[in-house]
Amino acid sequence: MAIDVYLSEEKIKERVIELANKINKDYAGKEIVVVGVLNGAFMFCADLIRHINVPVTLDFIAASSYGEETESSGQVKIEWDLKNEIKGKHILLVEDIVDTGLTIKSLKALLGSREPASIKLASLLFKPARNIHPVEIDYLAFEIDDKFVIGYGLDYAGRYRELPYIGIYSE
Ligand code: 5GP
Repeated sequence: MAIDVYLSEEKIKERVIELANKINKDYAGKEIVVVGVLNGAFMFCADLIRHINVPVTLDFIAASSYGEETESSGQVKIEWDLKNEIKGKHILLVEDIVDTGLTIKSLKALLGSREPASIKLASLLFKPARNIHPVEIDYLAFEIDDKFVIGYGLDYAGRYRELPYIGIYSE
């Protein structure tokens, strides 16, 4: 098996800083609750908040989709919920990848029902070729080809999350 580097550590670092700068401008004078979507977004989330200079609190949520991903039921199962209330807060949801869009669409709807002041989405990756649930990505690091990627938080059967770059796995 081989892993080809698709997005290098340097390229990711650069882009994460650009996104953080934009977030800092947009949220100037406000406080944000960063909600990392486990497990895949842990590394992106950790790197992103290092460059955020408005007041931040951090929380996590984990979800898994059930049923066929082509079903438009929007059903996701919450495996781990937020620890804190978000009513009246500015939420920045941080996701690893928007693929079909099912997970993030459902999470946005769920968090939206808890009456936050606002919800925005930051995603490391977006695969337009597979997207069937359109969702607005306010801060997107990279749009990618229709390839299965690993590393920088993303796994293949639980492995390779620790890689500092994003790679393409081939047998
Ligand atoms: P969606 O609900 O948008 O179809 O799927 C989102 C989830 O599927 C992501 O959070 C991620 O866990 C997984 N996923 C989608 N595409 C990839 C990929 O190319 N590589 C990896 N490792 N996971 C992916």
